[in-house]
Amino acid sequence: MRMPVLFVGHGSPMNAIEENSFTRTLETLSEKLPRPKAVCVISAHWVTPGSEVLAVEKPRTIHDFSGFPRPLYEVQYPAPGAPDEAQRLVDDLKLMPDHHWGFDHGAWSVLKHIYPQADVPVFQISLDQTRSFESHLDLGRELSKLRDRGVLILGSGNLVHNLRSLNGKMDAQPFPWALEFDEKIKTAIEHRDEKSLASPDRWGASLLANAHPTLEHYVPILYCMGSTSEKDEIVYPYEGFDYGSISMRMVLFGNQKEIT
Ligand code: ZN
Repeated sequence: MRMPVLFVGHGSPMNAIEENSFTRTLETLSEKLPRPKAVCVISAHWVTPGSEVLAVEKPRTIHDFSGFPRPLYEVQYPAPGAPDEAQRLVDDLKLMPDHHWGFDHGAWSVLKHIYPQADVPVFQISLDQTRSFESHLDLGRELSKLRDRGVLILGSGNLVHNLRSLNGKMDAQPFPWALEFDEKIKTAIEHRDEKSLASPDRWGASLLANAHPTLEHYVPILYCMGSTSEKDEIVYPYEGFDYGSISMRMVLFGNQKEIT
């Protein structure tokens, strides 16, 4: 069976230890999704020169943030790695194996809610900062075969992500540009408009600059698009904005009949 592909807008690291409508949605996903053999995470929080694949047996939990309460630093996510699957990707796609990274919070703050027992093997692929948007889509296409091997592809970023414009209130009204960019991306995903997704500045350089002052939270959706096709139906298990400038939209691609 071909596995679905999931994009999660992860938002604040605090979601790892809080309970809210977003985390409750993640919890229900584990019941809906077919159980994967492994999860391949493409996270906004691992950016490297060249595409690297986490190929260790017992990845460490990385607390890659600062200024948060102590309980967040005490979270461990002890899922096993998937070094065989990682090595297969390294060999097939000529990527670089990595033995130093672990699970960054783009991975564990989400997986902690979907698979709280940490009993599904997980590996990550880094975001190669030298690739073009088109090239990220191409690598996503290469990853699509993972789905037939029982691997769940999980893109973890945010479709709108501007930390400079954060409103102090989590439930603040979204900024007009946040709503506009989120809607543009949603429409492009639904039309499988990869041309626009590979050149999001076509919607206006200032709109893109507002939505993504830096681009790392945007790129993971390109892997989800690349690894899916028009055969995959699209649903949004969760949508909304945190702090006015962070889109929390989730996108689930796959045969919805098989996602119970
Ligand atoms: Zn993030």
